[in-house]
Amino acid sequence: MSVVSPENLQKGCGNIFKSREAELEHELKRLQQTNRILRELIARTHLAYIELDLDHKITEWSGHAEVIFGYRREQMCGRLLTDLVSARENKDELVQFLSDILYNAKRKLRTISMINMEGDELFCDFYYTPVLNESGMPSGISFAVQDVTTIRETRETLKRVEKDLNDIFGNAPIGIYQANSEGRFITANPELAWMLGYETADVLVEKMTDIASQMFANEDKAEEFFFSLFEAEQLNRFRSELKRKDGSTFWALSYAHITRNDSGRISGFYGFAIDISNTVRTEIKLQQMNEELKKISIMDGLTQIANRRRFDEILDSEWKRLRREKNNLALILCDIDFFKNFNDTYGHKTGDECLQVVAKAIETSVKRPSDLVARYGGEEFVIILPNTNVAGAFHVAEIIRKAVRNLSIPHGESKTDRVVTLSLGVAGVVPDDQQTQKDLINLADKALYEAKARGRNQSVMSHP
Ligand code: GH3
Ligand code: MG
Ligand code: MG
Repeated sequence: MSVVSPENLQKGCGNIFKSREAELEHELKRLQQTNRILRELIARTHLAYIELDLDHKITEWSGHAEVIFGYRREQMCGRLLTDLVSARENKDELVQFLSDILYNAKRKLRTISMINMEGDELFCDFYYTPVLNESGMPSGISFAVQDVTTIRETRETLKRVEKDLNDIFGNAPIGIYQANSEGRFITANPELAWMLGYETADVLVEKMTDIASQMFANEDKAEEFFFSLFEAEQLNRFRSELKRKDGSTFWALSYAHITRNDSGRISGFYGFAIDISNTVRTEIKLQQMNEELKKISIMDGLTQIANRRRFDEILDSEWKRLRREKNNLALILCDIDFFKNFNDTYGHKTGDECLQVVAKAIETSVKRPSDLVARYGGEEFVIILPNTNVAGAFHVAEIIRKAVRNLSIPHGESKTDRVVTLSLGVAGVVPDDQQTQKDLINLADKALYEAKARGRNQSVMSHP
């Protein structure tokens, strides 16, 4: 049996104490190092480090706290943190909050509105944790503080901009949308939904799975839209008919622009659409009116053949053309025989009807597309026959004369026949600088006069 001597016991205990002391020293060093690293880290993150005691008085005020709030450490140590909060904060509630941290700290972050030395308001994020003493009891609160005023302002500006954009998007009187690269809507505004006949923008986005086939009324136009957009990256004033949900169509003016993702790849496009149906309707009406006006300006209202103005125009252009070509130009002047008597006998209305029928008969007798039949005035008609010599024109004149006579319109007061007849004067030239258009008309007029003199109901060729 061995007995431990008092010396050995003392020695043994001394060893135990020594190794415990070394352990504690090691632990302390480790803690000090951790503490140093933590403080360094906090310093690098530009976080301020603040510590309060149990009375909420400041016991630690780091260099960054000096930077953020402008107060030096010696000015702040011993002061209440609540002295620095802005009027926006409820101080009683804040005191309660600080007390709560010690015992049941659930949240780890709180944004507090503070006032710096300059008197400016700062918004600061306070990350907090209670400080415990060796026996695990709370002895204070530590804070890592970040100035988030700029971030908050930026966030608020962004929020405002987003709200403004949403307002514009929601209330704009034009259709606005965003689509992906497969040609499917990602977002659309209420106006676009309304234009396309959908209940809401959400329904439109959900139901319209293929813009090309569901929105465009015309397949070729859809193809042109996408081809031009992806080629030029944007599209301006693109006119096309769009299709509503019920299949009806309307005219729209579209603008579109390609969108790209962060890596620069095409992600889709956004666009605007404006309903221009009213404008297009007005345009079509105007176009029709213009055509009508143009027709009226060159047509004789009663007989629906070319009028005197048109005759002057065509005679002028054919004269010039045939002068260049040194080719024949012929003219036939026709005049209804004893038409005054006809009017007197049957009335002006029947006279008008007679003029219409005669005009039609003359027109159908003239075959070449380049020939022009016009009402020269009153009961006189004129025919321009380009590339035709006098003999040819005389032949046509006779066809006309017979056609009119064969209409067999009764004319009891004609002194040449019992039906309506024509006298015709035929003239022809190869236009040159020695003659004028007027000369040609005079020649035809002279021949007509001769036809009248010879007893009417006949054609006479002019003699140079
Ligand atoms: P002539 O055989 O010598 O040509 O005798 P005319 O009676 O035909 O000739 P005149 O020049 O004396 O009379 C032409 C008539 O044509 C006068 C007018 O009563 C008639 N006239 C002219 N323009 C119109 C028209 O637009 N409508 C009607 N109903 N009659 C017209
Ligand atoms: Mg006459
Ligand atoms: Mg006459």
